[in-house]
Amino acid sequence: MPKTLQSSNANQTIDAIVVGTGPGGATVAKTLAEAGQSVVMLEWGDAAPLRGELLQMARIAALPGKGAFVHADLSLVLRGITAGGSSAINFATMMAPPLPMFDQYGIDLRSHVLALRAQVPINTLPDYLLGPMAARIYAGARSAGLDWQKLEKFIHIDKCRASCHRCSYGCPFDAKWTAREFIDAAVSHGGEMLTGAKVGRVLHQDGRAQGVEYQKDGVSHKLYADKVVLAAGGIGSPRILQNSGFDRAGRNYFVDPVIAVMGAVDDLKSDSAGKEVPMAAGVHLPEQGITLSDLTLPGPMYQAFAAQVGRFDRLLAHQKTLSVMVKIKDDLGGTIGPKWINKSLSSDDRARLDTGTAMARDVLQAAGANKIFQSHHFAAHPGGGAKIGDLLDENLQTDVRGLYVCDGSVIPEPWGIAPSFTLMCLGHRLGGHLVSV
Ligand SMILES: Cc1cc2nc3c(=O)[nH]c(=O)nc-3n(C[C@H](O)[C@H](O)[C@H](O)COP(=O)(O)OP(=O)(O)OC[C@H]3O[C@@H](n4cnc5c(N)ncnc54)[C@H](O)[C@@H]3O)c2cc1C
Repeated sequence: MPKTLQSSNANQTIDAIVVGTGPGGATVAKTLAEAGQSVVMLEWGDAAPLRGELLQMARIAALPGKGAFVHADLSLVLRGITAGGSSAINFATMMAPPLPMFDQYGIDLRSHVLALRAQVPINTLPDYLLGPMAARIYAGARSAGLDWQKLEKFIHIDKCRASCHRCSYGCPFDAKWTAREFIDAAVSHGGEMLTGAKVGRVLHQDGRAQGVEYQKDGVSHKLYADKVVLAAGGIGSPRILQNSGFDRAGRNYFVDPVIAVMGAVDDLKSDSAGKEVPMAAGVHLPEQGITLSDLTLPGPMYQAFAAQVGRFDRLLAHQKTLSVMVKIKDDLGGTIGPKWINKSLSSDDRARLDTGTAMARDVLQAAGANKIFQSHHFAAHPGGGAKIGDLLDENLQTDVRGLYVCDGSVIPEPWGIAPSFTLMCLGHRLGGHLVSV
């Protein structure tokens, strides 16, 4: 549980302010604090212990306009507003950064990949933690001819429990790695965190950052430092940039749309069916911009998918319904506004989703499923609203000196993979850079 600052002091000398504590921000803060820099993290959410409960998850990620946003095409975009950001409620899948993409922008992440692999638990699940539905989908995918493999997970295997369904509610056993571990590391090295602090804008003058303005308990405060790192996520940071005079922020973003394709099997006899680590195994097809995996979610989340598409006949079938996730790399587009976000799928995006859902149906059929249906698309990887090579240089700095961005916003091109590890690598690199300037 992170130590938290109760109030800010404008006279305090701070080396750096980090806004937001998701994978990007927490990694910068940890790296700075471990190097002896004084760092204050300003976090909009709270740091209440994760209890693995639906209600807490809903408060973190489902409040309209805070954690949940609806595009004009009725697709949903989710993010976590809490200490650790979306990592608190995400599916814990690790995918390595696409190194050649970053090389093109003068960013070599190789040493940071190695450094972070040594700091974070990254494992494939042993067979005893692979749920019965994931195992059934695995067999179906293999017989459908796909190179389905166990995925790497951010999980402390020794703490993870079989027949548990609480990863996506926020793991109460600290088995799932979240960015809260890095917040704790920053705090143990002298970093401070202020929760319930919503940053509105960056203070800057004559092209140099001076600090930030934030609201806490309905009162406006200012905190000063000449290094400010915005890490408020793919929606949060573009908004703060817009409020700070960066009109081009929040344009042409991506979300990595997802569809869940579901089908029933009648012969799955296991009490633990439906209580599994999601995304245990899958396949990533970079050429096609498609990722497929198992996606067994808790009953209420499954029911929301079924109800959303009018499949009330399937509401009670959670324990025998296999679910395959189809995630695509979407084209850049849309705008993040002050209170809304909006983006439509392109015709290529629709074609990728069609290809992916057809593959998922093949997997389900090969696994013996029937009564196959699919959800509307939704998304959980907003990014690209403050791109490297556009608003940011190779050190993630804006043209206001001392103002940096380090979260999903910085990703320069269409994406389509699990972003957390890449953002941690970028955070590690930025932390090291800030120590040296
Ligand atoms: C359901 C779900 C499943 C996912 N599964 C995976 C997965 O398996 N693997 C993976 O790699 N990724 C996954 N993701 C995505 C991943 O978690 C995010 O891409 C990642 O957390 C983004 O990190 P970030 O640093 O950009 O910021 P975020 O995690 O978005 O954190 C931003 C932080 O800023 C805070 N904040 C926002 N606005 C303000 C403000 N104005 N002032 C102060 N603080 C603010 C937020 O509270 C939050 O703490 C998933 C996401 C979701 C929602």
